[in-house]
Amino acid sequence: MHFPTTCPRCRRQVRAEYSDSGIHELTCPHCGSAFSVYLRKHKFEVLFDLGTRALMDGYAREAVASFAGSLERFFEFYTRAATLERAAGQGEDFGEVSAQLEQVWKLMAAQSERQLGAFSLAYLWREGQAPDFLTPQALGSDFRNRVIHRGYLPPRSEVDAYAARVFALIDRLLTRLGEAATHAQLEQERLYAVHLAAQPPEVFAVFEEHPGMFRVRRFGGQVGTKAGQPKTLPPSPANDAAAFQLALRERGALLGTVFGGVERAAVRGDTAPPDPA
Ligand SMILES: [Zn+2]
Repeated sequence: MHFPTTCPRCRRQVRAEYSDSGIHELTCPHCGSAFSVYLRKHKFEVLFDLGTRALMDGYAREAVASFAGSLERFFEFYTRAATLERAAGQGEDFGEVSAQLEQVWKLMAAQSERQLGAFSLAYLWREGQAPDFLTPQALGSDFRNRVIHRGYLPPRSEVDAYAARVFALIDRLLTRLGEAATHAQLEQERLYAVHLAAQPPEVFAVFEEHPGMFRVRRFGGQVGTKAGQPKTLPPSPANDAAAFQLALRERGALLGTVFGGVERAAVRGDTAPPDPA
């Protein structure tokens, strides 16, 4: 999948292929400038938006894998955010905790069952109650496995219902996380900063934020809950399907701009370098 970006030097549009790391090293096909696009978006957001886009384009079956991947990556996001939040509360060094977390994650990176276990404990510690929503039925695991592993061709209505279930679950947990989400964001920012520092000075850095189906708390002006606050998940509007449809109406159109235009967040260097010609 690609997204359009703008060359910081000649201002013409360039197509970038989504990278797994969120860092996109590009060379402008028009003027030859090298630049890097740092996407301020988490993996679960990108995957869910890709799934929504596939659904809107009529690729319902293909969308299922993206929604399932989004949910798995969200559980990782929650686990990381909760762990880093806890460490910050105890005054521990962010860099050290982050490095240790990386080591621990390697132990479960290849097995989603282990990740689910880690998430369950993180949830229990943060919320003070068991994640009773983690039943195979509530997660739509059987549907997901039939589609992904057994070649089941689902009707659109079943994919809609699965998307709505995943959306509502992530949306509610994100609200619960509140400001804690910024801890996971800080991890991403630090990775980007390391990459940026290693870049030659002539390579432009472009930071982009794209609209999407979720409203993830970013730095500044945040609302949300902290660990220890009321222990119920906020109610969704009427039901899962209604929550997903509402988000589709409000934010689905924005996905068109993700693939057809972008919100420019910040560009390092206001002026283009001198033209060698
Ligand atoms: Zn250019």
